[in-house]
Amino acid sequence: MKFIGCTLKQLPAHLHVEAAKEAIRINPANAPARGLAMPIERLAVLTSKYWGAKGVKLTVGFPFDNPEQALRSRILSHMNAWGKWGNVVFTETKTDPQVRIARTEGQGYYSYLGSDILQIPKNEPTLNLDSFTMQTPDSEFFRVVRHETGHTLGAPHEHLRKELINRLDREKTIAYFQKWDGWDRQTTIEQVLTPLADADLIETQNADANSIMCYQLPGEITLDGQPIVGGEDIDVVDQGFVAKVYPKTTAPPPTDPQVLFTIKATADHPAGQRIYLVPPKPILKGYLIECLIPGSTLHDVGEGFEVVGVSRSVSLPHINWPAILASIEKVAAALPPGLAAEVIRGLVAHLPLTPTQLAIVDALIEALLGRAAL
Ligand SMILES: [Zn+2]
Repeated sequence: MKFIGCTLKQLPAHLHVEAAKEAIRINPANAPARGLAMPIERLAVLTSKYWGAKGVKLTVGFPFDNPEQALRSRILSHMNAWGKWGNVVFTETKTDPQVRIARTEGQGYYSYLGSDILQIPKNEPTLNLDSFTMQTPDSEFFRVVRHETGHTLGAPHEHLRKELINRLDREKTIAYFQKWDGWDRQTTIEQVLTPLADADLIETQNADANSIMCYQLPGEITLDGQPIVGGEDIDVVDQGFVAKVYPKTTAPPPTDPQVLFTIKATADHPAGQRIYLVPPKPILKGYLIECLIPGSTLHDVGEGFEVVGVSRSVSLPHINWPAILASIEKVAAALPPGLAAEVIRGLVAHLPLTPTQLAIVDALIEALLGRAAL
C-alpha cells in the first residue's frame, strides 16, 4: 500500500488576516497568548483556529464525486468518533456543506485548520481523502479520517512539539521534504522544524508521539534512526484534549432506577420493599454518595422507597466519611427507626469503610433498632 502523508493546508496569504479575525470572532480564546503587538500577518499565523467552547456542529457533504451511501456513512462515523469524548457532531447534508470532502487522487490527505474552512470558496474541498473507497482498509479510516477531522476541529500537528522536532536530523529532514513534497528549505523549516510555542498550545502538557495528530516520520530522518510512528487512532491524550477544548455540557442521559437491595421486614415496615437509587452519575460510588448527601430527598414511591439525588455537585474523588456520616444521620431522621436501620445497613454494604467507621455505623444501627423496639 502506498503511504500518503498529510498536508495541513494553509490558507492563501491574502486570506490570513480575514481568517484570523473570523477565528477570534468565533472563539476569543483563539487570540495569540502573547498579545497583539506584532505585525498583522504574523498575528494571523499565530491565531488558533479552534471553534468555540459551545462545541462543533458542522455539516458535511461530498459535492464533487457523490460516493455511495456506505462510504459516506463510514467516513461520517469516523469523523463523529471524536464526539464520544467532546461536544462534536458532524451531520451529512447535500446543500451547502461546511466540510466539503473530495477524493482527488494524487492530492494526498489534507484539511484546512478549524475555522479556516469557512474561508474556502464553496466550490473547493476543505478536506481531501485522496483515493478512499470501500476497499480501503479499516485501519486507514481510523488513521486518516480521524486525523484530518482533528485538523477540521482546529488541532495542529502534534509533531510540531519541541520534544519531537528535537529528534529530527535537520538537514535530512529538509532533503526529505524537498524530495517528496517539493518543499524548499524555508517551507520545511516553517512546516516541520519550527516548534509551536508552548504559550500557543492549549492542549496537552507533553508531546505525544502516539497522538492521532502526530505525523508519521521515517527513521531515515531521525537522529536515532527510529521512526516517529504517529497515531493510529484517537488516543487517550487526544480524548482528553477534545474533552477539554469542546466539553460536553449536557448532563449524561438519566439512568433507569436500579434496585440496589431489598430490605427485610422491620417492626415498623413490611418486608420486600425495594430501595432505589436514581443516579445522577453512572458510577456506583459516585451516585451512592451523591444521592445521600444533604440536599437529596428520600421519599415513598408507592411500593418502595426512592432515594433521589438532587445534588449537582461534582463527583467526589474519594469516599468522604463526613458526608457519608451526614447522609446516614439524614436517613435515620427521615425514616421510621427500624426501616432506617435496614436502609443504612444495605447502603453501607456498598461502601469500602474502615473497621472503625463500620463500628460507628453498627452503633448507630443498634441505637435505631433499640428505638424501633420500644
Ligand atoms: Zn495532518
